[in-house]
Amino acid sequence: MKVVIVGCTHAGTAAVEQILAHHPDAEVTVYERDNNISFLSCGIALYLDQRVKRLEDMFYATADDLRKLGATVKLRHDA
Ligand SMILES: Cc1cc2nc3c(=O)[nH]c(=O)nc-3n(C[C@H](O)[C@H](O)[C@H](O)COP(=O)(O)OP(=O)(O)OC[C@H]3O[C@@H](n4cnc5c(N)ncnc54)[C@H](O)[C@@H]3O)c2cc1C
Repeated sequence: MKVVIVGCTHAGTAAVEQILAHHPDAEVTVYERDNNISFLSCGIALYLDQRVKRLEDMFYATADDLRKLGATVKLRHDA
């Protein structure tokens, strides 16, 4: 099974993790136009509310983390 994921904030990152957990033989390729993954959009509200000091703390995974799971991750790629 081949899976292409376009966009990799929280939703894309969670999708990669779940797909590879349940289908370890799947070929998963991620295309993300930005240079990072796993941003928690809901953290924007926490940041504006000053419950979180740095937006950088809203990332919880790197492209290499997903590569270690077996995904091919292409940052700065527009689909
Ligand atoms: C203030 C706020 C509070 C929230 N609170 C909650 C909550 O409490 N609980 C909850 O479950 N959800 C919450 N959410 C929603 C949740 O964060 C989003 O539903 C989720 O992040 C959406 O993910 P997404 O991948 O669909 O879109 P996005 O997060 O918009 O990500 C899209 C990604 O795709 C990339 N991209 C877009 N087009 C292309 C292209 N053509 N090629 C390559 N890359 C592309 C972008 O660079 C981006 O990284 C909240 C959202 C916000 C804004």
